Amino acid sequence: MSRKLIIGNWKMNGSLAANEALARALTTAGLEEKPVDCAVCPPSVYLAQMAGLLQGSSLLLGAQTVHARESGAFTGDVSAAMLAELGCKLVLVGHSERRAGHGESSEQVAAQALAAARAGLTPVVCVGESADDHDAGLMQDVVIAQLAPLAGLEVEAGVLLLEKLVLAYEPIWAIGSGEAATPQYVSVVLECIHEWLAEAAPALAEEALPRVLYGGSVRPDNASEMLSLHACGGLLVGGASLVAEEFIAICSAAAAQV
Ligand code: PEP
Repeated sequence: MSRKLIIGNWKMNGSLAANEALARALTTAGLEEKPVDCAVCPPSVYLAQMAGLLQGSSLLLGAQTVHARESGAFTGDVSAAMLAELGCKLVLVGHSERRAGHGESSEQVAAQALAAARAGLTPVVCVGESADDHDAGLMQDVVIAQLAPLAGLEVEAGVLLLEKLVLAYEPIWAIGSGEAATPQYVSVVLECIHEWLAEAAPALAEEALPRVLYGGSVRPDNASEMLSLHACGGLLVGGASLVAEEFIAICSAAAAQV
């Protein structure tokens, strides 16, 4: 079984002082000795600060969004090259809060993911259904439609974007609600995503296919059961990633699965 990936999405939270305290707790928790990949995604204004605080640690730095274009008249946006220059290794794209609050379409999300991968970053492409789609039993259809624009895109000749990214399944109704989806439910959708990947990239060996994470109200007390799902490559964690002990406990639970 490959190493799990645990990503903390800080969303629009933090301050210079709070980030420093959290970074100190995370970098002294002994995570580098454990078989798990851990990352944090602070707001973009704190990336430079966090790059300094994480220097020498195994914690990866990630951003929460990226523009698809290399430069230009895009007020408020940041490019993939800028993120890479600051030391980011990954970037979230298509988080449901970006899709809803900034009108990002799945085609735009795919373009952002491609720009990120071309700059050497790992795009973490987030997909997931709304409460209404959940109630209508449309979760697989919605997720597949969100994934579709990623198929066939090449980072460079002969290298598929699908080889270079991570996927995160986050049912919108579970995000920030305190109610995670059940492992049975998550398993069905993750298996469906894996089936889609196998069809979209038939030439890729299983080991080359991306990790697929679960996100939505993950806490230390439900992390292990999600991580024990065969199809679950890790977790995307919002609220609990702001509490050092909780994030460390989740990362430790992931290390225990290997
Ligand atoms: C998220 O926003 O990606 C998320 C999973 O949030 P939470 O863990 O707070 O539900």
